Amino acid sequence: MNEKPIDEFQLDSFTKNLFEDLLSGTGNESGESAAQLKDQYQQAVETELTGPIVRFFKQLLELTRETKASAASLGYSREQLLDLAKKHVDIDEHGVTIGGRVGRALGIARDAVGRVENYLEKRLEEAPSGIDLWEQIQENKDRISKVMGISEDDWNRFPKQLHYAINDTSTLSRCINLPEETIKDVLRVTQKYRMRLTPYYASLIMPGKTNDPILLQSVPTGEMVDNVGIEIPPVASDHSPARLIDQFYSRVVTIKVTNMCAMYCTHCLRLAHIGKSDQVFSKAALSEAVEYIRNNKNIRDVLITGGDAFILPNPTLRWLLKELDSIDHLEVKRLGTRIPVTSPQRIDNELLDILAESNEKGPVRVVTQINTAQEITPVSRDAFKKISRNVAAVLNQAVLLRGINDSIIKMWHLCETIQSSYVRPYYLFNCSFRNPEFAHMRVPVQKGQDIVESMYGNISGDAIPRYIATAGGKVPLHRSNIVEFKDGKVVLKKPWSGEIAEYPDADPAVYADDNSFAFKKYE
Ligand SMILES: *Cc1c(COP(=O)(O)O)cnc(C)c1O
Ligand code: SF4
Repeated sequence: MNEKPIDEFQLDSFTKNLFEDLLSGTGNESGESAAQLKDQYQQAVETELTGPIVRFFKQLLELTRETKASAASLGYSREQLLDLAKKHVDIDEHGVTIGGRVGRALGIARDAVGRVENYLEKRLEEAPSGIDLWEQIQENKDRISKVMGISEDDWNRFPKQLHYAINDTSTLSRCINLPEETIKDVLRVTQKYRMRLTPYYASLIMPGKTNDPILLQSVPTGEMVDNVGIEIPPVASDHSPARLIDQFYSRVVTIKVTNMCAMYCTHCLRLAHIGKSDQVFSKAALSEAVEYIRNNKNIRDVLITGGDAFILPNPTLRWLLKELDSIDHLEVKRLGTRIPVTSPQRIDNELLDILAESNEKGPVRVVTQINTAQEITPVSRDAFKKISRNVAAVLNQAVLLRGINDSIIKMWHLCETIQSSYVRPYYLFNCSFRNPEFAHMRVPVQKGQDIVESMYGNISGDAIPRYIATAGGKVPLHRSNIVEFKDGKVVLKKPWSGEIAEYPDADPAVYADDNSFAFKKYE
């Protein structure tokens, strides 16, 4: 240290390192870039902002690294650099030093961008959203409307979407160009299992694309009948304490109000329930379910599901929610529906009023199922936006499915797209072992762990779903990021970089000592 006042300014370790880098060179340089640097230096001296100072140091660092020249040999003395460093830290509201910013933070930000570069480059090609594909989807809509004779008016009405739902192979082959062999195979499957796609959902299928993710979810292939194995019914009678009710947990129950859906998914866990004729269950049945909840004071959360809860006509839904809202101990309600994705035309003002009215009494959450970004179009996004204005939360339960969303790019883009469409990723289910019919759609648990782990630090935390196995209740499948517990420290591995971080744990002795805790010690 010398006596100049400038050295009273203490350098932090990052700036010390930066200065060492800048001043330790032995080479010589007097080229064009050195002349450019003079300009930047002048701007840094004159500025009242941080930007020009950062730019000067950045370029100086690059030049000294490139040429092995020292900053001094380029004409910048230690004192001049100190002046600028002090100026920078004085301007910055958070006291960020030039060494912290140029020596560390910019590099960290650059590395972070590096981890998402591949995603940003490929997401449009590998996992386009229905918003990205909107022009083609509208062309598909025109083609399907023409083939089936659906007017624009009818297209926009939910009952007509159901009425015109594609449920046989001859209509399918007129709407979507599939090879004859494929159609024959689908015909074989549909003799045993039902197929149903709303014309709207069918319009999301990209023509000429083998294994289009929408096609895979809606049109069954031969495996469905050829796979061997024994089906394990999803919910047996030992889980249903009352009519329409399933109960696994003490405080949450489901009411299955219908076996109907606007479409039948090829990976449906409730295959056994939806397989037969469509039914919305009677008021008598619904009342018995409501009475079970009324008589069990421990139940605080009810999930209305099916089939699809939004299949219920508005008056029935209004009545059911009113009944449930009249139960004091029932605090929150959920509605399970894929209809905003398969037929967003259902979301009318009356439905929104019903949701708002019940949400006023206690939180309503709408739980949906979106498996690909391709299922989010301007129309479904608008439906979710309207729903989200009237309920406490809109949550997504995706299923991890082979060829549909089993890559980092597809899953990131799904989660980011739904988040910007007012929907929060909630669960990601590993596709169930229970049905041999869709065993070919399953993805190994570890592959799912890789995909989910890859999201940490790279996309928003509240866009990351919980990875779940359904195994008699929902069991988390996340990989542990704790390497070990050592000497009062937890050794953690950062999922995004693999970097190890030591995290000091709370002292167990301090934690155990209640007698000296906070206000207790004054007693
Ligand atoms: C999924 C499910 C629930 C709800 O579980 P959460 O973890 O609260 O979302 C409740 N009951 C049954 C039978 C279920 O399948
Ligand atoms: S919407 Fe849900 S319940 Fe209906 S077929 Fe699809 S996965 Fe099954």
